[in-house]
Amino acid sequence: MDFELSPEELETRNWAKAFAERVIAPHAEAHTKQKLNPALLKEISAEGFMTLLVPESLGGLGLTPVSFALVMQELARVCGSVAVSVAVTNMIADVLVREGTPEQQKKYLSLLTSQKSLTASFCLTENQAGSDASALRTTATKKGNEYEISGEKIYVTNGAWSEFFLVMARTSDAPGSKGVSAFLVDRNAKGLMIGGEEEKMGLEGSSTIRIALDHVKVPESARVQTEGEGFKIAMRALDGGRISVASQALGIARASLAAGVRYAKEREAFGKPIAEFQAIQWKIADGATALAAAEALILRAAYLKGQKKEFTREASMAKVFATESAMKVCDDMIQIHGGYGYIKEYPVERYFRDVRVTTLYEGTSEIQRMVIARDILKTGVR
Ligand SMILES: Cc1cc2nc3c(=O)[nH]c(=O)nc-3n(C[C@H](O)[C@H](O)[C@H](O)COP(=O)(O)OP(=O)(O)OC[C@H]3O[C@@H](n4cnc5c(N)ncnc54)[C@H](O)[C@@H]3O)c2cc1C
Repeated sequence: MDFELSPEELETRNWAKAFAERVIAPHAEAHTKQKLNPALLKEISAEGFMTLLVPESLGGLGLTPVSFALVMQELARVCGSVAVSVAVTNMIADVLVREGTPEQQKKYLSLLTSQKSLTASFCLTENQAGSDASALRTTATKKGNEYEISGEKIYVTNGAWSEFFLVMARTSDAPGSKGVSAFLVDRNAKGLMIGGEEEKMGLEGSSTIRIALDHVKVPESARVQTEGEGFKIAMRALDGGRISVASQALGIARASLAAGVRYAKEREAFGKPIAEFQAIQWKIADGATALAAAEALILRAAYLKGQKKEFTREASMAKVFATESAMKVCDDMIQIHGGYGYIKEYPVERYFRDVRVTTLYEGTSEIQRMVIARDILKTGVR
């Protein structure tokens, strides 16, 4: 077993780190007060960050899932708002590569690679259907060779900038997940209404909106895969998305840990730097250890995805462990900062707010534990 990253993986990580520090970092603090600037998103997209997993033959960078996870960690280390916007766009691009027809790939991937669409959006959640996503009520009714989609989707990440949305809707009365299909819906489709921005605890630079669909007509060719396949498409997308969210959490927590270490060496109490107190050292040691374990889980899940092996259980393990560890680290680093940890002048406050959502979106910690336990009970301990 090889614990070294390959030269290509190291090179990709360095490229992402350098770009994040040069181009994104100067805006990170401003993203606590304003949405990401479309000009910045365009620059990020032009560098290839929105189609990281898309093969070069389709205009993307063709990264492996391991390299992708490393890139997400570097973006999140600098700015969580950018990281989530990039992550969701890549999740949709990955769906198009895996599940789309050549026509769908040509149309929608080129919108991303040409920056005509700065981002893409994933529309699964509804008011009454979050963890229980199969309770979704949006309908897609077949009329001739078109579908008419009606319903409302909430928490649509990237809604402000996406020219297209992947929308999960019910095409039959089949119970639960069985009657769900997936559709690519253009922003300018008649009957699609874009709602206002949610005010969030963190990740304020990212866009989170509602959309309403009122008899939105889409051609049959906008359906991804066959009727009834939509829920599985969404779950396959989320398997990969969970590696991304785990990586976001890891990147944010690493930034927080670095800030805590810096501060502990500078701040003095009782005549010496607080870094010399064992109580502070243990927080640093425990944090670094948990993040190293999180990294190992993330890389394992990403590696399995790259090998086209089963990785659902591993992605959920990586997500639940990385996000919960990251929350603890971000909390402990505020403690190390004392009262200053609560003051906005220090970045640990932003890291704490940004990391909080990672145990919630793309499946809460409770749902990850359900996924892990279900898989172990079905296929055994390995
Ligand atoms: C900032 C942000 C961005 C988002 N972006 C998107 C997006 O782009 N696209 C999208 O489709 N969705 C998105 N979401 C939605 C997100 O995935 C859901 O919020 C999440 O899945 C939880 O659903 P819920 O909020 O309805 O919580 P609920 O399902 O109402 O859960 C409430 C609580 O009950 C627990 N719970 C529920 N069921 C069980 C159970 N069976 N056993 C134990 N505990 C349970 C949950 O874990 C949670 O603690 C986003 C959310 C946020 C906050």
